[in-house]
Amino acid sequence: MGADLRVAYLDNAATSPCDPRVVDAMLPWLCAEFGNPSSLHLAGRRARAAVDQARGQVAALIGAEPDEIVFTASGTEADNLALRGAATRNGVVGGHLVASAIEHPAVLETCRALATSGASWSALPVDTDGIACVAELDGVLASGTRVVSVMAANNVVGTLQPIGALAARAQAAGALFHTDAVQAAGKVPLDVRETPVDLLSLSAHKLHGPKGIGALYVRRGIGLEPIVHGGGQEGGLRSATENVAAIVGFGVAAELAAAERTAEAARLVGLREMLIDGVLAEVPGAYVVGDRFRRLPGHACFGFAGYEGEAIRVLLDLDARGIAVSSGSACSAHHAAQPSHVLTAMGFDPIRARGSLRVTLGRFNDADDVVRLLEVLPQVLAGARPILTRGAATETTR
Ligand code: PLP
Repeated sequence: MGADLRVAYLDNAATSPCDPRVVDAMLPWLCAEFGNPSSLHLAGRRARAAVDQARGQVAALIGAEPDEIVFTASGTEADNLALRGAATRNGVVGGHLVASAIEHPAVLETCRALATSGASWSALPVDTDGIACVAELDGVLASGTRVVSVMAANNVVGTLQPIGALAARAQAAGALFHTDAVQAAGKVPLDVRETPVDLLSLSAHKLHGPKGIGALYVRRGIGLEPIVHGGGQEGGLRSATENVAAIVGFGVAAELAAAERTAEAARLVGLREMLIDGVLAEVPGAYVVGDRFRRLPGHACFGFAGYEGEAIRVLLDLDARGIAVSSGSACSAHHAAQPSHVLTAMGFDPIRARGSLRVTLGRFNDADDVVRLLEVLPQVLAGARPILTRGAATETTR
């Protein structure tokens, strides 16, 4: 692995190492180029031009127009702006929202918070492969549904979601369609001209850009209420002096991801398949969590029948041997003892829902990283204590 030779970093869905080309582009904007893009003098105008260029680069990644991109401080903030902005009219929260049961907490917790202040929400179920059920959408839509939110790809199990079909049904019912594309962007084709979503969330640090910068695509003509009020930056939707260096980095990361996506996706699918085939062959009781093939190029998620309760221990043993993976989602590390809401929604019982191992590959991984994991994982599992769970002995193919 590029950045640190001692560690095989296989947790790119949690965050990905910043590409050195991105860092190089950002550096001047942390030092000599310090202008405020709202200033009228030369330093300000240069910063404005840099922000505009990045806006175009991010827009191009998803086939949008530059004026449809609103920079935010994170993917989380983009999700909040999409849902809260759509559920608020003239300062009053109301209406109904739909979100899939496997959304990131940035969406689910926002729905829950909105439900305490005037709105209501319903969860769209997913099947046992971790794919949202299109046929069930009509059943959870209500006459006052303002927005339907379904992620483009799931962060825990990596499954790709049928957002085109869901967007069409939601819009036919008069609702806006939002997709959290934080994991999918730059990895799989995403074009808002072909898949006409209304709102789409992005985050730079998942595509080898810097942390602390995200964006919301807002289709022209969609009226959203801001959640941050102030000086009116970002078309009035996200006031605050722009984080110019991070925005520049996001722009370059988006451009690189777009330029390299096709070749990189093919390379990552090859590594992922090598990994999955190897784990299924080498580790007794191993099974893939989520649809085997409808998944992000570099994303694999495993369960180990009978050892599900040991996932955190396995993760820490791997860490001690220089291999970084995740037990599901970095965002749920604070709730490691709790079952994953994603696996629960897929029908796993509470013990098995605690036991997945997420391995996510990125630009700086190669076959050596996969070989190293394949050597170490069987040893680590051989030292783990089996905990029998309901159905664990029979369900080895999920
Ligand atoms: N949405 C998804 C699907 C994610 O995976 C994440 C981060 O893990 C986020 C939103 C939050 O993005 P950020 O870390 O930029 O707040």
